[in-house]
Amino acid sequence: SARPRPLVAGNWKMNGNKLSARVFAAIIQGYDAALRSKVELLICPPATLTVTFGVVAVGSGVSVGGQDCHVKASGAHTGDVSAPQLADAGASYVIVGHSERRADHGETDAVVRAKALAARDAWLTPVVCVGETRGQREGGNALDVVRAQLAGSLPETANGDDLVVAYEPVWAIGTGLTPTPAQVAEVHAAIRAALVERYGEAGAAIRILYGGSVKPDNAFDLLSVSHVDGALVGGASLEAADFLAIADYY
Ligand code: PEP
Repeated sequence: SARPRPLVAGNWKMNGNKLSARVFAAIIQGYDAALRSKVELLICPPATLTVTFGVVAVGSGVSVGGQDCHVKASGAHTGDVSAPQLADAGASYVIVGHSERRADHGETDAVVRAKALAARDAWLTPVVCVGETRGQREGGNALDVVRAQLAGSLPETANGDDLVVAYEPVWAIGTGLTPTPAQVAEVHAAIRAALVERYGEAGAAIRILYGGSVKPDNAFDLLSVSHVDGALVGGASLEAADFLAIADYY
């Protein structure tokens, strides 16, 4: 089957303010016809900027996403943001199960799956994150950990249009450390096998992103690995030039 259309996604985490719309506008400006023909771009700003970015993005072809959503559509959940609210603000994707959410907020695989389902109920595409810690990798358990997270976090049904998976080794996030291409290849092949086993042929079309210290300098090494269908970029997505340089790998 054909290779899925690559997706380069930026996760701004808890960074940025209304002046950051200039950075987002520069990303849009750099998303020229050549880039557009090769790769899809997504920026996930903090929740406070979703509406602003959603308005700026209209007609640009660059997608806007949330960084998390509640499992419920509305109700008495002070401080939380729901998937329908993100959709209403202009989002078309939402990251769920990022390792920082799993660690800081105790999100279990079951919670992550519920969030992925909530996202799809609101017609958002969930970007479900999985990845092992340093200790788990050193213990030789990276593949088992990732397979278990997939089994627990993914929806019952999925296809290339309604699910994205991101492999983000926790020890590579924000550290400048990256797995070797061989390590990336091993995990991405295992994720592909799990997706095909679970969803049949549709599993071949689901984008599997690599995330963890992706920079312009290492984009070629990481993104040229088979079954890597794009990147989830943290720090380097905060500068338009860096983010565009990563996307320009394609
Ligand atoms: C992330 O948190 O999704 C991420 C990949 O961060 P960084 O690129 O900064 O390692």
